[in-house]
Formats: sequence, C-alpha cells, structure tokens
Amino acid sequence: MYDVVIIGAGPGGMTAALYASRADLKVLVLERGIYGGQMQNTAEVENYPGMGMISGPELSEKMYQDSNNFGAEHAYGYVTGIEVNETYKTVVTEDNRYETKTVIIATGAEHRKLGAPGEDEFAGRGVSYCAVCDGAFFRNQHLAVIGGGDSAVEEGAYLTQMASKVTVVHRRDALRAQKILQDRAFKNEKMAFEWNKTVETIEGDDNKVKALQLVDTQTGEKSTLEVDGVFIYVGLVPITENFSNLGITDEEGWIVTNEKMETSVPGIYAIGDVRKTILRQITTAVGDGSIAGQEVYKYIESLND
Ligand code: FAD
Ligand code: NAP
Repeated sequence: MYDVVIIGAGPGGMTAALYASRADLKVLVLERGIYGGQMQNTAEVENYPGMGMISGPELSEKMYQDSNNFGAEHAYGYVTGIEVNETYKTVVTEDNRYETKTVIIATGAEHRKLGAPGEDEFAGRGVSYCAVCDGAFFRNQHLAVIGGGDSAVEEGAYLTQMASKVTVVHRRDALRAQKILQDRAFKNEKMAFEWNKTVETIEGDDNKVKALQLVDTQTGEKSTLEVDGVFIYVGLVPITENFSNLGITDEEGWIVTNEKMETSVPGIYAIGDVRKTILRQITTAVGDGSIAGQEVYKYIESLND
C-alpha cells in the first residue's frame, strides 16, 4: 500500500514526489514516457527562477534527480484508470495494479491538432509539433509555424537558428504570446507573419511537405505559402480521458480542484497543466505540486485520527 501514487513525471509530479517523500510518505511516480513532461520538448526555459537560461531536457534531469533525494520510487506505467474503494484507491496500469491511500493526477496536457487535411498524412515528413526534436532537419529551409501563443512565437524564434526563414501563420491580427516574446519576434529578421490566415490544407509529394493552402479570414481570399515544413502550436488539450468516469473534469476535460488541489473525490488531487487554471507554466506546476505533496500528508494524518 502506497501513501501516494503520482501519475505523471512532469515538473508538477516530480515536485509533488519531492514534497511527499520529504514528509516521509511512501511515494510512487508512474510515467508513461520519459520524465520531464513537456519540458523535454522545450528548447530554452528562461522563466524558471534561479536557473538563468536552461534547456528543457537539462531542467528535467535536475528535477528528476531532486525528486529522488528522499526515497520516492519512479516506475514506468501507462495509467488506464483509477478505482475508488471504501478506504483506498487502486491505480491501474496496462501491466499492474497499485493500491494507495491517495492519488495525485499530474498528467498534464498535449498539443492540439490543427485538423487540416494533410496533417496526419505528412506527420514526421514535414509536419511536426516539436521544434527541439525536429528543427535540425530543416537547416536553411523555409518553415511555417501555426498559432499565435507563447509556444508558436517562442519555438518559431528557436527555429530561426536553423531555418532560412520562419513564417508564423496566425488566424487573427494580434498575437496572444507574452509581450517580451512578441517584441523579440518582430525584431527577428528571419521571422515573417501571415495575419488573419487559416490553413486549409497541407500539401506535398510522396516524401515531404511542399506548401500550405491558406485562407484569409477577413476576405476569404486563398493563397499558397511554399514551405519545407510546418510546426503546429495551436494550443493544448488535457490528458484526462482515462479519468472521465470520476466526474472531476469540466466540459472541456480540465480537472477542477480547490486551492488545496483537492478534486471532488476525497484523496484524489490534481496539479499542473491538467487542472482548470489561469496560467500553465513550469512555475505553476511546481507550485501546485508542492501544495499537493503537503496536502496528501495532512489527509493521511486525518485518516489516522
Ligand atoms: P506535463 O509537463 O505535461 O507532464 C505530464 C506528464 O504526465 C508527462 O510526462 C506525460 O507523459 C505523463 N502522463 C500523461 N498521461 C499519463 C498516463 N496515463 N500514465 C502515466 N503518465 C502519463 N513553461 C514555462 O514555464 N516556460 C517555458 O519556457 C515553457 N515553454 C514551453 C514550450 C512548449 C513548446 C510547450 C508545449 C510548453 C512550454 N511551457 C513552458 C509550459 C510547461 O512546459 C508546462 O506548463 C509544464 O510542463 C506542465 O507541467 P505538468 O507537470 O503539469 O505536466
Ligand atoms: P495557447 O496559449 O492556447 O495558444 C494557442 C494559439 O493557437 C492561439 O494563438 C490560438 O489563436 C491558436 N489556435 C488555436 N486553435 C487554432 C486553430 N484551430 N487554427 C489556428 N490557430 C489556432 O497555447 P500555447 O501557445 O501552446 O501555450 C500553452 C501553454 O503553455 C500556455 O499556458 C503558455 O503560456 C505556456 N507556454 C509558456 C511559455 C513561456 O512561458 N515561455 C512558452 C510556451 C508555452 P487565438 O489567439 O486566436 O486564440
């Protein structure tokens, strides 16, 4: 019987593991992939205090090391569900079942798909969702980035280190990204912008992407943007499909918690990007993780009263 099983080893889950194990709880972290979560796909992080400029994979490694300092166990496991019993919970993976007094859901979010024809057909052949993974394949080539948020603008700027030109295609005439990122992008001579445009289709030949067919949202006019690759950053969707039976999500799938990170099911907590919240950052995931790591301790103490 674990005191707490944490689902997901992103910054939120790893911080919860640090806090809960430091409170002497028996902690298991289950992760379906590599620890670090979305940080593994982030080229540069410059807004995590105390680290200066650090690559996402390097910050992941440091957090992983620290999450182990007080005895938390890490294991591979794709969690398919949580069963709620009278006095304990069972976390179910494809291969195992883990009994635990509490659960912290830290499964984060993943990229939303654009839904344009050609997106699936050319995935891995010019369509990508990860600049740090695939940017190097496009040296001295023309790339498009779709979206106007922090991810599109920041990762687009990163891609200019490799590409000859990066054209940001955005459906409105103003970016959503933080001002500092916008200012840098507008000064970057390798960045261009297609305003008020949506992608109708992604086209190519057998091997790779060749062009985007765009539509002007104001005039309906169509145009062709010749590119060698396209990076899609049109937002996030929560990873909660395996917890839908618990009735803890809102209509879009984000998990609703109170300020103690408690869901509506006693003993089940949620932290980080998977939560209905106003800001999704490494700092906020870490803050949520520390609160939940502390709160599970208090909850377990109350069970003993
Ligand atoms: P995640 O990082 O999403 O981690 C969730 C983990 O849970 C993943 O490892 C996943 O594999 C695992 N998981 C999911 N489902 C299961 C399951 N069923 N079973 C087991 N494991 C599961 N934020 C910043 O502060 N600064 C930045 O510079 C920055 N840059 C970014 C750049 C990009 C391109 C993106 C996409 C995001 C960026 N962010 C940045 C946002 C930041 O990465 C996230 O806010 C943060 O990673 C959220 O942490 P998390 O722990 O909640 O979830
Ligand atoms: P986001 O903030 O939700 O932005 C998504 C962008 O995609 C928006 O500009 C949106 O347009 C556009 N979009 C959505 N659906 C679209 C569609 N179907 N077709 C065309 N465009 C579409 O998502 P994000 O940029 O991935 O950021 C996710 C989270 O990670 C945020 O909390 C962000 O702050 C965080 N993050 C932080 C950093 C950093 O701190 N440096 C870096 C990256 C990400 P509209 O603007 O018109 O809605």
